[in-house]
Amino acid sequence: MTGTGNLDAAPYALGRRADFPLLAANPRLHYLDSAATSQKPASVLRAIQHYYETTNANPHRGAYTLSAAATEAYHGARARIATFLGVADADTLLFTRGTTEALNLVATAWGRTNVKAGDRIVVTRLEHHANFVPWQKLAQATGAEFVIAELNTDGTIDMNALESLVTPRTKVLAFGHVSNALGTVNPVADLVAIAKRVGALAVCDGAQGAPHLDVSVDSLGVDAYAFSGHKMLGPMGIGGLVMRRELLEAMPPYQYGGDMIAHVGDQHTTYNVLPYKFEAGTPNVEGPIGLAAACDYLTALGMDRVIRHERALVSLAMERLSAIPGVTVLGPGADRRSGVVSFTLEGVHPHDLSQMLDADGVCVRAGHHCAQPLMRALGVHATTRASFYLYNDVADVDALAASVNTARLRFAGA
Ligand code: PLP
Repeated sequence: MTGTGNLDAAPYALGRRADFPLLAANPRLHYLDSAATSQKPASVLRAIQHYYETTNANPHRGAYTLSAAATEAYHGARARIATFLGVADADTLLFTRGTTEALNLVATAWGRTNVKAGDRIVVTRLEHHANFVPWQKLAQATGAEFVIAELNTDGTIDMNALESLVTPRTKVLAFGHVSNALGTVNPVADLVAIAKRVGALAVCDGAQGAPHLDVSVDSLGVDAYAFSGHKMLGPMGIGGLVMRRELLEAMPPYQYGGDMIAHVGDQHTTYNVLPYKFEAGTPNVEGPIGLAAACDYLTALGMDRVIRHERALVSLAMERLSAIPGVTVLGPGADRRSGVVSFTLEGVHPHDLSQMLDADGVCVRAGHHCAQPLMRALGVHATTRASFYLYNDVADVDALAASVNTARLRFAGA
């Protein structure tokens, strides 16, 4: 094994490919696209299969034992996920399809009720489109002003500039916990303090925070926190929104239909209590079951170890990539980022580069990473992004660096 120079044995030892059937079946695959979606441990797959083999029925609706068991499994999963995310009031954790739906829920149900012409909505230049476009559209629909807080040259938020934008007219401050494009970890406590000073809603996109940091949503002090299960070892199609109870109780539902009602009259309808008010229709039950198993897996490993492991791999990858002529690594230093390394290689389009890496079994993402406003500020159309998780190891960093260097030589000789 090469390149272990600045890694002590403990973080390197975290890699557990054997727990992940897809990785175990493909020993030469270097999966470096976990910011897009993570691989799934066998325990998650087993939990889903077990649910369907033993407990499957439509929850909430049946008086029979099997339906009651499905209901219990569904809400039991909610309680375990809430514990993992540091949410004491589990009924304020609403299941959604993922971060995108969670943020649309807030921007629509809370936003249409609370934002009006002349108000201001502030987002940061780092945002994923999922935490940008819903606010842009809300501003257009209500006549509010949509303002973007710019960045420092290292891809961190310019906090002074942001603070001056958050005026008493500001109703929403929306920011990511961790940037999917650069890996920047944002100072959530400071951002919340700035929002609270003017009574603005502090909305945090936790899509890249929940999988990679030791998150306690209650302690963060945010008003709303969105996350996606598939990025944190869980299945696709499940995620959630945690929001302060009084806000959820005051705002209208997002969708209407079965389960979310208390009483349907001929002309008027009243709504169910939390969390049902925001979960219309037959829910995705296998999703929470699988995600709860993923949370158990992460808890058993310890998020502090996951963080140390990723930081060690990221700082090694930054070191190795920066040493390759023509490579520019974008974003802040390793101490201010999570498991993401975005870079460019002079004279080689990221799409061409990612295809060449693929031939070596190295899976990276190339493109704008759903962050076009950020790409404009960086002055690039696209970057190549390698993103790490707990199952990656030094061999993945070695393969990445070797493959990028081979691509450079091939292009230089072309
Ligand atoms: N926000 C960030 C920071 C992300 O990285 C992503 C997904 O890449 C999303 C939001 C959207 O998540 P999903 O597609 O799971 O809804």
